[in-house]
Amino acid sequence: MDQAEKVRTPSSWVVVGLDNGGTCNNATVLDATGQFLVNNLVENPSRVLDGPESAVEALADAFTGILELTSTPLSLVRAVGLDTPGPASAHGVISSKGATNFNQVSWHGFDIRGALEARLGLPVIYNNDGNAAALYAHHRHFGADAPEHSSVSAIVGTGLGGGVVEAGQVVRGAAGMAGELGHVQIPLHGVLEEGQPVPQCNCGFAGDVESIASLTGIKNNLLPYWLTRFPDHPLNDEPIAKAAKALRSYGEKDDALALAVFGQQAKAVGKLFTIAANFTDPSAYFLGGGVVEAAPHFRQWFLNSVREATELRDEQKAVATFALVPDRDMAGARGAAVAALNMVAV
Ligand SMILES: [Zn+2]
Repeated sequence: MDQAEKVRTPSSWVVVGLDNGGTCNNATVLDATGQFLVNNLVENPSRVLDGPESAVEALADAFTGILELTSTPLSLVRAVGLDTPGPASAHGVISSKGATNFNQVSWHGFDIRGALEARLGLPVIYNNDGNAAALYAHHRHFGADAPEHSSVSAIVGTGLGGGVVEAGQVVRGAAGMAGELGHVQIPLHGVLEEGQPVPQCNCGFAGDVESIASLTGIKNNLLPYWLTRFPDHPLNDEPIAKAAKALRSYGEKDDALALAVFGQQAKAVGKLFTIAANFTDPSAYFLGGGVVEAAPHFRQWFLNSVREATELRDEQKAVATFALVPDRDMAGARGAAVAALNMVAV
């Protein structure tokens, strides 16, 4: 595919989607007909470690860059969608305690949405990255029928992100903290082995979804236990952080230790989806994160394991879909753009 096929020019007004990450911003453009103008990652350094002023300038650079790349005149842009990692308020104010990506004191309580809006002179619609990815998964899957459906997305990464979509819209909650699926506590019966310590989460909870179904959960909880069950496994010779990252490649080779760990993660996500089934009874359950990039047989096994661990009633089984969140690297920017389009299209 050459560059001409990857980049289109707009035939209508547009919105821009900006995904802010720890090292890079990713940008996209979505036109009023629902077409994305770029098919690939368009990244620039996010400079979040340099503090808010530099980071807002870097977002403005990403905005200017994507308009240039797609030959989109500024006058066609109606709004900008922005997503960042949380925790942040529903309106894009970074937590007063800071966050993993925003640990400088100048970030604490910083209104990144308002600052970007002032910088660009355009309306900016904010979502956290989990909600943005959930929104993209929903709209990609259901297309024009998105408003008729609900879904829940679990994104297994460093933590466990995701979101809840109802009638095509992200459920935000009163304080902006709806859809913090990683910190939902789940029944551990049938998940943990006899004698396995109860997993602890960085949030202070024990036995929540993230304490099991995340890279952090593998490193802190699952792998230290499972290595004692496989004393001859080569990962016993690696530092735990390195071993945790290497585990997926073992899973792709059907290694017994790796399948035990990922099997526990799948059960934990299944318990979460069982709770969702009784809360909002969604049409679709989406699974995302690094596993989407794994070898096809492995990611299908993981998705099937999650489905088997999700206890649905027969009526729910007849209508519910399980699917992987597509376009992992672009899901944040694309979801942010979808949110902006939803906001200005009504
Ligand atoms: Zn937690």
